[in-house]
Amino acid sequence: MTDDIQVPCPRCKQLLMVAPKYLGSELECPQCRTRFIVPDGGGGVGLSDEDIALLQRRDADVVARLEEILTRPLWRYGILAGVLSNRMQLLRKSICRQDRQQGSRVMVLRKKTKMIAEIDQDIANYCKITNGLQDILINHLNKDRMPPDVPSIVACGDVIEPYCIQLTEFHEEAYSRDLVSGDPFQQMQLMILNWVPNAWQSLNTLINHLERASKEYDDNKELYAMSNIYFPHDFPLLHHYMKILK
Ligand SMILES: [Zn+2]
Repeated sequence: MTDDIQVPCPRCKQLLMVAPKYLGSELECPQCRTRFIVPDGGGGVGLSDEDIALLQRRDADVVARLEEILTRPLWRYGILAGVLSNRMQLLRKSICRQDRQQGSRVMVLRKKTKMIAEIDQDIANYCKITNGLQDILINHLNKDRMPPDVPSIVACGDVIEPYCIQLTEFHEEAYSRDLVSGDPFQQMQLMILNWVPNAWQSLNTLINHLERASKEYDDNKELYAMSNIYFPHDFPLLHHYMKILK
């Protein structure tokens, strides 16, 4: 039995069998002679019993898929994708709930000052959550600092989870309100309702990137260039409205 892992050449995609000790060092592809650094993102090593016990605690589904995940060139990214996906379950459920029908909601008239205060509060709350989330993603998921082992992968999931819960709460709260009648407040309210679904989409994209990177050995750039994605694109418009209204 060999611990060699399969690494595709970045240029010609020829699969090379690489011994774990060469991870992180420069190799030459025997087919196209391209020299490249083998990223130390995997390694044909199995997980320790402690690693598996740690995963079993909250990510039994990842453990169930380990056999397949460990054959991937960048298996650590595969485990990370699974762990992050689990930590976002509540958020996913909240986004996917189909029983909320905006059309049937009551339209209410509300005081301008009250609406402005509420929207100000929403902006502050949302920024606080997403700034925190972004800091974590930048610190944990950049090219030089991807979680190097199972304990740090699980720890990464554990620090991201509270932010996902806060996003869920924000979303649920925003949806529990009555829709005000009349623009621009109604328009602003609808914008705010879209923030969390958009953030969710970005998080989902991140997980898909990780999955793909783990399978295709693609230490891809997109993954690390995701710094501003949680910032709602309609923020400037909202600020513009607020300025006029105040
Ligand atoms: Zn090659």
